[in-house]
Amino acid sequence: MEKTVAAISTGNAPGGIGVIRISGSRAVDIAAKVFLPLDGSSLTDLKGYRAKYGNIIIDGEKADNAVALVFRAPKSYTGEDVAELSVHGGILMVRKTLQAVLEAGAEPAEAGEFTKRAFLNGKIDLTQAESVAELISAEGEQSLKASFNALQGALSKRINSVLESLLDASASMAAWVDYPDEDIPELSEAELEKTLKSCRAQLKELLDNYESGKTVTKGVDTAIVGRPNAGKSSLMNMLARTEKSIVTHIEGTTRDIVEENVSLGGIILHLRDTAGLRASDDLVESIGIEKAYKALDGAELVLAVFDNAEKLSESDTDLIERCKGRRAIAVINKTDLNGVLNAGEIKNGFKELVYVSAKNGEGGEQLAEAVKRLLGVAEFDSSAPLLANARQKKNCKAAYDDICEALYALGAGVTYDAINVMIDAAADELLSLTGKKASAEVVNNIFSKFCVGK
Ligand code: GDP
Repeated sequence: MEKTVAAISTGNAPGGIGVIRISGSRAVDIAAKVFLPLDGSSLTDLKGYRAKYGNIIIDGEKADNAVALVFRAPKSYTGEDVAELSVHGGILMVRKTLQAVLEAGAEPAEAGEFTKRAFLNGKIDLTQAESVAELISAEGEQSLKASFNALQGALSKRINSVLESLLDASASMAAWVDYPDEDIPELSEAELEKTLKSCRAQLKELLDNYESGKTVTKGVDTAIVGRPNAGKSSLMNMLARTEKSIVTHIEGTTRDIVEENVSLGGIILHLRDTAGLRASDDLVESIGIEKAYKALDGAELVLAVFDNAEKLSESDTDLIERCKGRRAIAVINKTDLNGVLNAGEIKNGFKELVYVSAKNGEGGEQLAEAVKRLLGVAEFDSSAPLLANARQKKNCKAAYDDICEALYALGAGVTYDAINVMIDAAADELLSLTGKKASAEVVNNIFSKFCVGK
C-alpha cells in the first residue's frame, strides 16, 4: 500500500493558522486519531469537501482548537484521500500536531511530495507542477499571473494541441505505409506540410517568447551606477520605497554594494546600488569602485545615473563609454534643480534616456516604460502560454528542430516512413515536456526543488 504522508504546509513562521496536510489511503484514519470533532462524531465518517470543528488531542489531552478538512480520492489536491488540520499558527503547536500525526502512523512527506503525487495520479501534468513552484516563488505581479496561467493549463493546452496534430499525422502516415492494400486515403503532401507548418509556428511562438517570459518572471539583474552624489541611493530608495540604501551627503559612503528586489511596472529588478564611480585614493573605496565596475559588467540591465545639476565629468564620460552597446538606460536625476547638464553626449550613448527627480519621486513611470521597452517586454502578454524553464525549453526546441527536419525531408521527397520517424521524435519531446513520457530521474529532479509541505 502507498504510504500515507504528512507535513506542515504553511510557512515556518508564526501566523494566524498553521496547516498540517496528510495524504494517502490512511489519511482520514490518522487525522481521526489526533482530532476529535466537537459534535462527538468521527472524522472517519465525514464525506469529502467537508469540515469539522474540534480539538487536537495530544497524549490524551486537548491541546488546541482546530478545524479538520476532509477530501476524498480522487477529488483532492493529490488525488488521494487528504485530511488537513488547521491549528493555531504558533510554530510549536503546528510542530507538535505534526509530531502527533506522525506518531499516529503517517510518514514525513518529502519535498514536493504532495504535488508529485498529484502528478503521478494524473491530477496535473509536469508543466502545471512546475508552475506550482513558480507560483510559490513569484515575486512580481506579472510572474504571478504567468505562473497561475500555467497552473490553469495554458502551456499544456498548447503543447497537447500540437501533439495531437503530430500524432494524427503520424497515425495516418503509418496506416497508409503499413496497409497499402487497404482503402486508406493517402495523406496528401500538401496537407502534411500544412499540419507541420502550423505545429512549427506554434512551437516557434513559444520559443520566441521564452526570453521575455524569463525576464518578466525571474527578474533582471540591474546595476545602478554613476558618479558619487548623482543620486544612485536616492533612486534605489525611490524604487524600493524603503530606506535600505542609506542616503547621505558624504561622497563615497555607498562603499559596498546594496541589493534590493523591487517591482517596476510589474517586472522584478534585482537592484544593486554600487559605489560612486570616480578615481579614489581611499583603499576601501577603490575596492568598492572595482565592485561597481564588475556589477556593471555582469548586469543584464544598467541604470546609469547622471546629475542634472552638474556638468558632465570625466567619470560620466567614462560611464557613457562603458554603457555603449549594453542594455543601459541613462537616468538624469535631480530634475527639480536647475539643469546645467548638457544631455547631448548622453543621448548619443543610450537607447533610452529618462528624467527623474529621485527626491520628489518623479519619473518612475517613465523609467518603468523605458525598462520594458529596452528589455523587449512592453508587449508581453502574461496570459499567453509560456515555457517556464530550461527543461521545458529544451524539449520544445528539440521538437521544433525535428519538425523543421521533417518539413525539409518532405520538400526533398523523402519517403513517408522516414518522415514519420522525425514526427514521432518531435512527439516524444512534447510528451517529455508535459511529463507523459518523462524519465523518473527528470520527475524526481523537478520535485526535489520543491519545499516540504507542497
Ligand atoms: P549617490 O552617491 O549617487 O548614491 O547619491 P545619493 O542618493 O546619496 O544622493 C546624493 C545627494 O543628492 C543627497 O543629498 C540627496 O538628497 C541628493 N539628491 C538625490 N536625488 C535628488 C533629487 O532628485 N533632487 C535633489 N534636489 N537632490 C537629490
